[in-house]
Amino acid sequence: MYFTYERPAFDVNDPGEIQRVIREAYENGLENAQLSVEDGSGKAADYIPELAKAKADEFGLCVKANDGGMICHGETKKRFTIQSISKVINLAVSLKYFGFRETFSYVQMEPSGDDFNSIIKLDMVSNLPFNPMINAGAIQVMSLLSENFEFEELLDFARKLCMDDDIVLNEAVYRSESRTGDRNRAIAYILKSKGILQGDPDKTLDMYFKMCSLSVNAESLAGLGLVLANNGQNPFTGKHFIHRGYIRTIRSLMYTCGLYNESGKYAVLVGIPSKSGVGGGITACVPGRWGIGTFGPALNKKGNSIGGIAALQHMSHMLHLNTFD
Ligand code: GLN
Repeated sequence: MYFTYERPAFDVNDPGEIQRVIREAYENGLENAQLSVEDGSGKAADYIPELAKAKADEFGLCVKANDGGMICHGETKKRFTIQSISKVINLAVSLKYFGFRETFSYVQMEPSGDDFNSIIKLDMVSNLPFNPMINAGAIQVMSLLSENFEFEELLDFARKLCMDDDIVLNEAVYRSESRTGDRNRAIAYILKSKGILQGDPDKTLDMYFKMCSLSVNAESLAGLGLVLANNGQNPFTGKHFIHRGYIRTIRSLMYTCGLYNESGKYAVLVGIPSKSGVGGGITACVPGRWGIGTFGPALNKKGNSIGGIAALQHMSHMLHLNTFD
């Protein structure tokens, strides 16, 4: 952890220095992931049984730039499930098709300070979920989508946003999550009981589980980060998917809520709009510049990738990428 703001002096825009820092960031991520597995502080998620099969000491880092440059180290081709990072895609679809006002009439924009799958505040503090980056908010957003879209349409959107046509549904993870997703079922039915959830809770949950079970890799997550960094436009085809005002909304919510109840600390130490998932992924966007994807299934207690955070922290610190630098 970097407690000091002193940094070695070098030209942070020099391509050679950037390459060096990205290499160091990868090594840092890998080392932190491996150490956490050794000392027991990091492990793969096991509340979805299929996820426990991941090799927790693996790590990969991919950085994509909007001039076509790409730097990848480690396990960046290996497929894993997107999990909560799909919440970004679902929110993007909701904003695009239903607009800002409609989307946020069902969900707030506040950090919750609770675990990602917490139910407490939903029943005791507010009828509306706190934000779309936690399960309650994402299930609520999905209830809008599942009444209006087929899964294949959302899959297509995910492929476009990640610039990756090879994304498919991981059936084994989907079945495993669907079998054991009682907490998410509870959330959906509480929302239904309050008259907030739209449509059928089981249909909503099925689509939510499927979107969490899309198989991506660190490269796809770098692609997603790059489209977000590029104001919703694929820099290579010029195609525009989402209005830039909505991208600002999405990036802001990633910044404030993207790592659940670790978002505040992450904002201080990294300060790049990011979203994590319990499959071990993190997508991050450096506005106007880079998309970054990491894969490291060793998670900390908050459900965030230890290797991913270490690598992003190193890059941010050395290259002055924190929003408030
Ligand atoms: N599918 C997971 C769940 O609903 C997603 C959670 C996550 O990635 N934090 O529990």
